Amino acid sequence: MNAIEVRELRKSYGDHVAVRGIDLTVAEGEVFALLGPNGAGKTTTTEVLEGYRARDGGDVRVLGQDPASAGRRWRADIGIVLQTATDAAELSVRETVRQFAGYYPDPRDVEEVIDLCGLTAKAGARVQSLSGGQRRRVDVALGIIGRPRLLFLDEPTTGFDPEARRQFWELVRTLSREGTTILLTTHYLDEAEALADRLAVIAAGRIVAEGTPSTLGGRDSAPATVSWRDGDGAHEVRTVDPIGTVVNLARHTGISGLQVRQPSLEDIYLDLIGAKA
Ligand code: ATP
Repeated sequence: MNAIEVRELRKSYGDHVAVRGIDLTVAEGEVFALLGPNGAGKTTTTEVLEGYRARDGGDVRVLGQDPASAGRRWRADIGIVLQTATDAAELSVRETVRQFAGYYPDPRDVEEVIDLCGLTAKAGARVQSLSGGQRRRVDVALGIIGRPRLLFLDEPTTGFDPEARRQFWELVRTLSREGTTILLTTHYLDEAEALADRLAVIAAGRIVAEGTPSTLGGRDSAPATVSWRDGDGAHEVRTVDPIGTVVNLARHTGISGLQVRQPSLEDIYLDLIGAKA
């Protein structure tokens, strides 16, 4: 079964067309990343899928139901980490997570979630007293406490230090292994590459490319850059046959610093955005 099915989704704000006919399918258990520049329509799309925004047109099914009319049971299966951080209450981290656990029929264990989100040392601290990145971890804890089948993560690691990002990636992998479907919106290409089974690039309200991190935008067949040094200095060529180039170079003596670089996901992404945005 597909967790998300979207056909011809359209949404305008007044005269401004934010989403111009998006098709999207996310299989159950998949980690799917949405990439795209600011204003591309990612948040609008995810808010429609979350049932928080009305659409102008198109068919949308999320966990088998139309989010525009789905009820409480459906909502209990959905976890959401929004872009804007949770309002910091007077409560401690533990009290906040416990309070949210009470909203769900089958919540996870509060201490387990606090631990999974790297908040054990701050469990007794008021949310108000936390740093920006620590508050973001609380947002993540509140998003997963209800044991969602489908988790929406909208720029979840903004403000995280590098170690916290790695910990968060491990958390996403753990949730994914447990079977949670995850729709991730991110501006970090390394994050998309590390986590996503498949991804789509949205530009100006349309999907301009879709694939796996290694095939997106023809990445697997795109020219590679081969660089090396010899007695004449430094050299660099772009080629669709890097192996042939390396084999040729191996016949020469005095070659050093040989490197073969495939285009990064960021190279491909910037090409897609530059060409089609
Ligand atoms: P970002 O990466 O900056 O979060 P995004 O891809 O999530 O961007 P959206 O927030 O979906 O983009 O916005 C898409 C377009 O719709 C933008 O041009 C934005 O200005 C416009 N827009 C979004 N929300 C509203 C609103 N409530 N009223 C009017 N215009 C809006």
